[in-house]
Amino acid sequence: MHESSPTTVRCTGLGRTYAASRRGDPVQALEAIDLTLEPETITVLIGPSGCGKSTLLRLIGGLDAPTTGEVRIGNRTADDARQAKQFGFVPQAPTLLTWRSVRDNVRLLTEVNVKASGKSESSDTEVDAMLAAVGLRGFESARPSTLSGGMAQRVALARAFVLGADVLLLDEPFAALDELTRAEMRRLLCELWTAHRSTVVFSTHDLNEAVLLADRVIVLSGRPGRIIADIPVGLTRPAPEGLEETPAYVGALREVRGALRAAQQQTAIGRAS
Ligand code: ADP
Ligand code: MG
Repeated sequence: MHESSPTTVRCTGLGRTYAASRRGDPVQALEAIDLTLEPETITVLIGPSGCGKSTLLRLIGGLDAPTTGEVRIGNRTADDARQAKQFGFVPQAPTLLTWRSVRDNVRLLTEVNVKASGKSESSDTEVDAMLAAVGLRGFESARPSTLSGGMAQRVALARAFVLGADVLLLDEPFAALDELTRAEMRRLLCELWTAHRSTVVFSTHDLNEAVLLADRVIVLSGRPGRIIADIPVGLTRPAPEGLEETPAYVGALREVRGALRAAQQQTAIGRAS
């Protein structure tokens, strides 16, 4: 057990209800989430659209406050951990500053973070080494508008990893990419994770992506999101040639698919009642 690790993520009785809007009733997005994430593992959150994946990531990252329960990162509250720059975020659409070069986009957050984290600012050499690691050598001075979607997400990954954050929160980061690019990005994420060993929480609605990346897949039910399955996976990463034909892969896929179907049925029943 890593009871005392400063980077264990612990959610206890976590719930989030969004206040009523003018148009409707309050929305209970998450209910009673109890979840402990061990350091240096990749946890994948999967569930039907609207089940609360983004909400859970925001709560873990201290970007939103729970209605019930709490999040702890080691002994810190999520808010304190955020202020201490323990988190890196990768959203679905990379938020790159169009007027800055690729290199400056990667460097920007480290400039911002220096004071808060006590870490030193990344040098150009460090930033360029990270850009090379994500396959962007030669694009250091390029503007984000000249990059493809996949290349922009490479910049977002480089930016997240160069910070050396303890906990990386990735919210459907590859959802907008084509399958070949997604496969490359999965491989890249696995390589970066192997080198940096951060605690990763990754949301997706793609079964294959979940099984290939996860040490553990958490399946959420439809609204309010609850944990309905907690499935250990842990296949070899990055996936070797032919992995998708192995019984281990096929078995894991079947198990997650089964749980996801149950989640979707619960959602349908919830809507009907
Ligand atoms: P997911 O990422 O799994 O698609 P979200 O966490 O984005 O799910 O949303 C969960 C539920 O909460 C959805 O029903 C969504 O409409 C609702 N929701 C999310 N953010 C807000 C908000 N800021 N205000 C009101 N409702 C919200
Ligand atoms: Mg979402």
